[in-house]
Amino acid sequence: MTIELPARETTYEDPSFYRTLLESTKAIPWRIDWSTMQFSYIGPQIEKLLGWTQASWVSVNDWADRIHPEDRQKTVDFCVSQSQQGVDHEADYRAITADGEYIWIRDVVHVLRKPDGTVDSLVGFMFDISERKKAEDKILKLQEELETLSYKDSLTGVANRRMLDALLDVEWAKSRASRLPISLILVDIDFFKQYNDHYGHRAGDECLKRVAHVLDTAAGRSRDLCARLGGEEFVLVLPETDAAVALQVAERCRKLLTREGIPHAQSHVASSVTVSMGIGTVVPDSQDELSEFVELVDRRLYQAKANGRNRIEAGVD
Ligand code: GH3
Ligand code: MG
Ligand code: MG
Repeated sequence: MTIELPARETTYEDPSFYRTLLESTKAIPWRIDWSTMQFSYIGPQIEKLLGWTQASWVSVNDWADRIHPEDRQKTVDFCVSQSQQGVDHEADYRAITADGEYIWIRDVVHVLRKPDGTVDSLVGFMFDISERKKAEDKILKLQEELETLSYKDSLTGVANRRMLDALLDVEWAKSRASRLPISLILVDIDFFKQYNDHYGHRAGDECLKRVAHVLDTAAGRSRDLCARLGGEEFVLVLPETDAAVALQVAERCRKLLTREGIPHAQSHVASSVTVSMGIGTVVPDSQDELSEFVELVDRRLYQAKANGRNRIEAGVD
């Protein structure tokens, strides 16, 4: 079968091609004439998002008036000063809808110049970022709550299972939306029963605290989470982290733990306390289940144990 294609020039010269493209994206395009500060264009999608008709966007004041009072001044000041300097910029703010609700918008602005270098117009896209903001707010709130006892493991001071469950759900959804990978490292202390038997339960508790501290240090970015799953098992949640970086974090854990040098006379694999680790990395799609991903990482931890302990298993199943 032969498909007749139009000549390329025809497509690119056809203004309806651009219009269709612009008006079928979720991002809302707009243009403001610099000399008059009037909208010369705004995509019809604006009405669906904010409820204000396309025709109601006349001047830059209509834009400013529809920004949340708490965000208005700083957003307007920032955008005006950047535009005056001719600098492309982005601004996040809450826009007021016709119903009186608020929607988080990211406005990405480009400055267009005339041949003589003076500013001709501003063109940009408005993106609806409310879902992302909601997830970010939830993560921030959970991180604040980590400071309270209910989300902290009382022995080691790192996050507890409750915190883990709450945060992992949110990070999983966020990773699915952003298409950025999330990595998980499951950690289990080797021969910990023997450690307790030999040094006593109290020394065992001290050992758990030191291991937790090492793991928490190794996963050092602000959104990383180190949690105690229970017993001598820990988990590191690494958002926006690919497999290579997750492996580096796991190796850093082993290195720091070796340096910590907690003596373990009964270990069959080293003279000091070691851990085994399973790692997994995924960009979840709508089919992927968090519980299955955790099980996969757990199987890798089990493999690390079966393969001799004191090792990292990141292999492909
Ligand atoms: P493996 O190398 O296969 O991981 O063996 P293991 O001995 O580390 O694992 P096992 O599950 O046989 O033993 C875990 C031990 O951890 C048994 C339990 O007494 C001890 N344990 C669990 N929670 C605590 C705790 O809060 N404090 C102390 N001191 N010990 C704990
Ligand atoms: Mg265990
Ligand atoms: Mg163990």
